[in-house]
Amino acid sequence: MAIKIGFYGAAQNVTGSCYLLQAKGRNILIDCGIYQEHDLKERNWADFPISPEAIDAVVLTHAHLDHCGRVPRLVAQGYNGPVYCSSATADIAQIVMLDCAKINEEDAEFKRKRHEKEGRKGPFPEQPLYTQTDAEAVKPFITPWAFDKPLKIAPGISLEFIYVAHILGAAFVRFTIEDEGKTRTIVFSGDVGRCDMPILKDPSPIGAADYIVCESTYGDRFHGNQADIPEELSEIVNDAVKRGGNIIIPSFAIERTQELIYFLATLLRDDKIPHLRTLIDSPMAVKVSDVFNRHLDLFDEQTTALMRKARLPGLTMVRSISDSKSINHIKGTAIIIAGSGMCTGGRIKHHLAHNIEDPSNTVLFVGYQAEGTLGREILDGEKNVRILGEQFTVRARVAKLEGFSAHADQRELIHWLKTASGTPKTLFVTHGEKNAAFAFADAVGKQLGWHTEVPAYEDSFTLE
Ligand SMILES: [Zn+2]
Repeated sequence: MAIKIGFYGAAQNVTGSCYLLQAKGRNILIDCGIYQEHDLKERNWADFPISPEAIDAVVLTHAHLDHCGRVPRLVAQGYNGPVYCSSATADIAQIVMLDCAKINEEDAEFKRKRHEKEGRKGPFPEQPLYTQTDAEAVKPFITPWAFDKPLKIAPGISLEFIYVAHILGAAFVRFTIEDEGKTRTIVFSGDVGRCDMPILKDPSPIGAADYIVCESTYGDRFHGNQADIPEELSEIVNDAVKRGGNIIIPSFAIERTQELIYFLATLLRDDKIPHLRTLIDSPMAVKVSDVFNRHLDLFDEQTTALMRKARLPGLTMVRSISDSKSINHIKGTAIIIAGSGMCTGGRIKHHLAHNIEDPSNTVLFVGYQAEGTLGREILDGEKNVRILGEQFTVRARVAKLEGFSAHADQRELIHWLKTASGTPKTLFVTHGEKNAAFAFADAVGKQLGWHTEVPAYEDSFTLE
């Protein structure tokens, strides 16, 4: 029986991670994420590659929306098997899916009202992709599992979650498949984190891997130095204070928010920035902070000690929409952190609409902005952008903290690939824009001499 891998997302694009592994008569879905690129969003509403009832297991590498965000839809459409993931991912993914449902409901309601007012129908359904009830329904299927401990999910098929940094709970997954006297190991990288970053430990070595599916978000780039972050951040904050404007930071509560708070607290303690109001406008931020406290074992020791100390005075968690709206009336410089991280939905859109035309304000990016997202348009210097159905002129300062990335760059990815214990038969390069993915495949070919493939959407491969 042959082993097959099908690529149904994050194939020559970044979001919507979804791979189908077929072995020994079983169908296993690795990640089931949401598409965030504007042109690909319609795929969120499309059918799954195979009928949800025919899927035997779902395995999540981590809790980012573009990796777990479509699971509630999968369950709503009839999937009723286990959703395996690390225990921190189990905690965060449930918060993320619920938050996504809530934001989807808010956005759909907003869109419906706007369209009603304008007497038109939008390109996307004025209904949420799924509801909070759908997200709640996933809970009984979530099956947390420890790191570094093999889990047999079917006869002859086992998997391991292995630490990969990136975000709390993130893992790469190694499948070991025994068939007709042969053993095959297949590694799915998920998203690979960086070395020497604050908060999380470094990614673990790959070890055995006959095949590797590897992300390439920054496969054609080299990051700025993370040592520069405090200096750059204090310049941005002090500049905003001088101009009397707000700092709007699009960030998902689980992405860079924790690091950001850590850096702001450190800068304040060292007297590098003044005391400012900082608001995290996310319905899920509070819950995520609790999860961080419950998984302190995943942080490096230095950070655990620092995190206990690093309290940021003036930090407010905003939960309700009415509290969110009242942020608009704050006088003086405030730091407003809200999702989604790529400005594709959620409360950040309202804050951008309110702040982006004022040259005293700053929009600060701390995470990856996929092609075709509002975040990318702003970051690329578009002067006119469409937010919540209206045209806005970007007059605010637009800044980016490059060193903040949660993704390894080309050098770091290759460094990580070198930790494989041999030469894999094929490296499948995914989760990158076309240019990044092909450039990365090329670099791996040249530097490591490996055979690479850059699968397109719906491509599938039979493994030896
Ligand atoms: Zn991720």
